[in-house]
Amino acid sequence: MNLDNVELTSFSGWIDRPTDLQPALTESITCDVAVIGGGVGGMATAKRLAERGQDVVLLEAEFCGYGSSSRNGGQIAGAPGGDLRMLKLFYPKQMKGMVKLADHAAEFAEALIDENAIDCDYERNGMVFGAISPIQMMRVKSCAKVLKAAGGRGQVGTAEDLGIPRAFIGGMREGVGGMLNPGKLSRGIRKALLATSVKVYEQTKVTDVRRDGGGVVITSSCGQVHANKVVLSTNAYSGEWQITPKRLSVPAWIIEVETEPIDPARIAALGWTSRSGVVTQHQIMENYRLTERGTMIFGVRRLERGTSYPLPKDKKPDPGLVQELADAFHTRFPSLADVKVARAWGGWIAITSSWISLAGALGDSVYYSICCNGHGLAQAPYVGSLIADYIADGTMHEDLECIWLAKPKFPPFMMMGRVGLRTIWAVDRFGDLVNGSRRRARRAAPAYVGSAS
Ligand SMILES: Cc1cc2nc3c(=O)[nH]c(=O)nc-3n(C[C@H](O)[C@H](O)[C@H](O)COP(=O)(O)OP(=O)(O)OC[C@H]3O[C@@H](n4cnc5c(N)ncnc54)[C@H](O)[C@@H]3O)c2cc1C
Repeated sequence: MNLDNVELTSFSGWIDRPTDLQPALTESITCDVAVIGGGVGGMATAKRLAERGQDVVLLEAEFCGYGSSSRNGGQIAGAPGGDLRMLKLFYPKQMKGMVKLADHAAEFAEALIDENAIDCDYERNGMVFGAISPIQMMRVKSCAKVLKAAGGRGQVGTAEDLGIPRAFIGGMREGVGGMLNPGKLSRGIRKALLATSVKVYEQTKVTDVRRDGGGVVITSSCGQVHANKVVLSTNAYSGEWQITPKRLSVPAWIIEVETEPIDPARIAALGWTSRSGVVTQHQIMENYRLTERGTMIFGVRRLERGTSYPLPKDKKPDPGLVQELADAFHTRFPSLADVKVARAWGGWIAITSSWISLAGALGDSVYYSICCNGHGLAQAPYVGSLIADYIADGTMHEDLECIWLAKPKFPPFMMMGRVGLRTIWAVDRFGDLVNGSRRRARRAAPAYVGSAS
């Protein structure tokens, strides 16, 4: 495919940048609680703290919604991210709690949308774990068992049962959640935040966070905040300061690609009646979804590890990966082989060594959380609001307790180096190759071979 006319953007394809940027911090101020980072996580934390009567300041390097919150696939997931079988194997005691947290996070996101009347094209149609091969279907079924045993909700079925494209042989639909426009969601939460008592400073990059006596001093290029407590909500960017616990997470760059508008009759012909977003069961998934504007968005397939801080600010998608994703899209949907890619963008996600969300505190003045691994859209604001409640009255919700760390000690990362990520990618491509040959063999085989077996 010729990518000459593809717009490779350094922000998001979902929404434009806001035109009402809030002023930068240019003085020295004090507050009860400072929140750093204006993604959905930081915004929800600050908003909840203000609702709980705290005097709150939010500091954001660019504008609220600048990070992955406006750039993601827009799936409100109802189950934990990662391979559920592995999570059960390594974290059997936490499994029920993580499943509950993911379920409650999706419900929290839905309530946030409803209570603030956020118009973000939300469709409650449950994300589907989709299988492109019998092996992937086996994985779906075992994940569904794990989810059910841990108290989660999920419906296993064929592509027809679930109303997903016939490119998939079947899958499992999560029992809660759905898809939305994350740019509009972030913009809606920003609007709700600006209507509260929170003092929001955009264009304010924090360069240092230091504990000072019982409180903290937060420094930006033109100002300082002296706060009793601080919440670090900077997601993948968290490694920029000395105060961040070592090995808390690593940053990874992932991208989304959007097609030109597709004739609705051609979408209908795919059998995608539920419009549910679908994620494949590769080690590194591919995600596919429809949009309100009649396009299809798909992405991920490969992770690019960020190797140093600060993370590059105006990074654009690698054309090689856009091409690879476009090829995968045409393989999965051969009837759409002439549909062109219109634009692509990417964002930074944080990955923890355990592949689960986590939260904790350094002393009683610095709070952090990472809701990661591609499932933070609902979890980041939910966990942020639980941290806000904890700060406000000392009550720790059981969902927060489940991911709360007594000590900020993290094991080294496995398979997150360049070679490790390339190996995982190669394993996925080998699976695709085997599946492709099987499909071709089935198509080429004379009918009586099939009926005799
Ligand atoms: C391409 C892509 C697809 C994804 N798909 C999904 C999906 O479908 N479903 C899902 O659940 N999750 C998905 N995710 C993950 C999800 O978007 C994130 O987990 C979630 O948005 C995290 O929100 P956050 O508020 O923690 O972080 P962010 O939105 O990243 O916000 C962090 C903010 O901190 C600010 N900041 C950084 N450094 C500083 C500093 N020094 N000073 C001040 N401010 C600073 C940044 O500017 C940024 O605005 C995806 C992510 C990407 C990139």
